[in-house]
Amino acid sequence: MTVVTRFAPTPTRFLHIGGARTALFNWLYARHTGGQFLLRIEDTDRKRSTEEAKAAIIDGLEWLGIDWDGDIVYQSERADRHAEVAHAMLEAGNAYHCWCTPEVLQTMRETAKADGRQPRYDGTWRDRDPSEAPDGVDPVVRLRAPREGETVIDDAVQGKVVTANTQLDDMILLRADGTPTYMLSVVVDDHDMGITHIIRGDDHLTNAARQAQIYRAMGWDVPTFAHIPLIHGADGAKLSKRHGALGVDAYRDMGYLPEAIRNYLLRLGWSHGDDEIISTEQAIEWFDLGDVNKGAARFDFAKLDNLNAQYIKTAEAGRLLGLIAPLIEADTGVTPSAAARKRLAAGLDGLRSRSKTILELAENAKIYSSDRPLEFEEKAAVLLDPDARGRLAALRTALEDHDDWTEEALETAVKGHAETQDLKLGLIAQPLRAVLTGRTASPGIFEVMAVLGKDETLGRLADAA
Ligand code: GLU
Repeated sequence: MTVVTRFAPTPTRFLHIGGARTALFNWLYARHTGGQFLLRIEDTDRKRSTEEAKAAIIDGLEWLGIDWDGDIVYQSERADRHAEVAHAMLEAGNAYHCWCTPEVLQTMRETAKADGRQPRYDGTWRDRDPSEAPDGVDPVVRLRAPREGETVIDDAVQGKVVTANTQLDDMILLRADGTPTYMLSVVVDDHDMGITHIIRGDDHLTNAARQAQIYRAMGWDVPTFAHIPLIHGADGAKLSKRHGALGVDAYRDMGYLPEAIRNYLLRLGWSHGDDEIISTEQAIEWFDLGDVNKGAARFDFAKLDNLNAQYIKTAEAGRLLGLIAPLIEADTGVTPSAAARKRLAAGLDGLRSRSKTILELAENAKIYSSDRPLEFEEKAAVLLDPDARGRLAALRTALEDHDDWTEEALETAVKGHAETQDLKLGLIAQPLRAVLTGRTASPGIFEVMAVLGKDETLGRLADAA
């Protein structure tokens, strides 16, 4: 059997982080098994679905590198097919017309509540003669659901999930205006798309029993369900914006790399021993539904930051430079000059080892991208008192004749100079950092000098005079 999975987002909002994880698990399972991963946009709620959300979902998946097979299926375009299936069920006697008006249903619910029963549809029209139908009422179509026994789902994550059929009333398949309900549409689409595995959040677990009833009424194979636990905040509470329940685009804007998000989402609810850094190739090789955790996963920004830092360390240099250039430009209003770009490339390794996000990297990179004269942070400016400026002027003079501009040679030269002046190295190094970077924290000062080069270093030193 070829595995076919799908991601079926509702485009009423952007691709949020939980949805991205659902998509990732479906994608990985399909790639792991050599099967197919399909994308269906569930846009039947025309009023609440937006083009903007559709575009954001597609964009988010592409950014994450989650590619789907074949064309996107739009659920709204398939309403006729959904209705056709409902009519087939009517024909076969597995569905029936119900002429209860909203008022009648309301009364039914109230009576049930007053009697201490669950407010369910009582099956009034299940066996009633259609000739008794009231005039002027358009009927809905309801499933003739089994009344005895149990509906059993063998969930690949949750195990056996048993629902007594008395708990499930005869659900509506077609509304009075002939439009299909969500429950019917999902089943017909999954069947027609040949879906073999439905991997989704466990907030849909209660739908699975009802959906299984529709499959069985049509004599269709029920796909394997795998309901994955929802993501909670680090404190165990339901995921809110504060916890990270944001759109994927927000993570991009916060400076996370897609491979870090992918790795993080993978570990959020799935594990392979103690492995933390897992490449996409390894994930595809290892991913299996049996290793999905049953307990709710906790979203932890600190862990995501750690992973992101790891991926920033190994990312291709040109790509990182391409990511930070527009950020620097947006922030400073200045396009980095050719000299600045050269310095950025030379200093990248020292910068990236100190940056957890692309935003941090861009911020740290300004020590190299800025052209003279630098702006000084207040703490750095304070270090540059007249005494310190005097020490820097002497250093500048000493360095004028120095030509070996490597980190090691500079370290020897500056230390030697400090000794001849009978000064502790800190008394020179601290103001030196301030004058060369405008800051009090930076990569090692000799590395900074080497990256800046002789002219720029001496120029920045001269600016302090
Ligand atoms: N459209 C549903 C949602 O976005 C998913 C339905 C499903 O996966 O069966 O929550």
